[in-house]
Amino acid sequence: MMREELVFGPIHSRRLGSSLGINLFPEKGKLCNFDCIYCECGWNKDGRGDHRLPRAADLEKALEERLSACHAAGTPIDSITFSGDGEPTLNPDFPAMIDITLRLRDRWFPAARVSVLSNATRVGVEAVFQALRKVDNPILKIDAPTDELAARINRPAAGYHVADVVQALKRFEGDFILQTMFLRAPGFDSGSPQVLRPWMDIVRTLRPREVMVYTLDREAPMQGLEKYTPEQMAALVKPLLDEGFSIQIKG
Ligand code: SF4
Repeated sequence: MMREELVFGPIHSRRLGSSLGINLFPEKGKLCNFDCIYCECGWNKDGRGDHRLPRAADLEKALEERLSACHAAGTPIDSITFSGDGEPTLNPDFPAMIDITLRLRDRWFPAARVSVLSNATRVGVEAVFQALRKVDNPILKIDAPTDELAARINRPAAGYHVADVVQALKRFEGDFILQTMFLRAPGFDSGSPQVLRPWMDIVRTLRPREVMVYTLDREAPMQGLEKYTPEQMAALVKPLLDEGFSIQIKG
């Protein structure tokens, strides 16, 4: 899904209520250091063409306008979520944008929760880490417990190592939400014991305050992917539930 606007919504959802989205990417492009086989924005190679990233001042203007308009119209805002067509932490102004968003949130809708959906590749960068620590919900992705599987599912840019990300995530001391996609494709299966066991070990090491497991929703760029049902995912994560982890399952 290519979202064109820097600030979009509010969109109503059962989980988030009335939610504003922030898309830190070019109007007609995708920018990510992963190229996931299930990415709803499509392949990276098809999303090039517009390289003008929004800057902090652009966000400040667009968000101020939208929040003040919602406030004037009596439209509630329950959450503000950084998502959009790519990896938000790749925008060089990301840390400044978090500060701006929190300031405007406090001014217009102090009860709104700020969330960031990130692939966690840049949590080792100090300014990115500090920015993610400030938001209410840093939602950080690990789909694959090994580099070999990450190469198949996430197709990361060179230099990605799951062990480095796990090491960097330890600094959150559990105060984050871990997000993991469960799927099957020719050649691998997220629910197989050889994938599930090391993934559970990562969960036990990091002890995130919440784990979100989900599966394919919209059309994926790669053919032949199979989704899991919520019941199947619940059965797969049962050992962690029994150990007391809080797990949200999204079918
Ligand atoms: S990390 Fe997110 S935006 Fe990047 S390729 Fe994967 S699903 Fe798409």
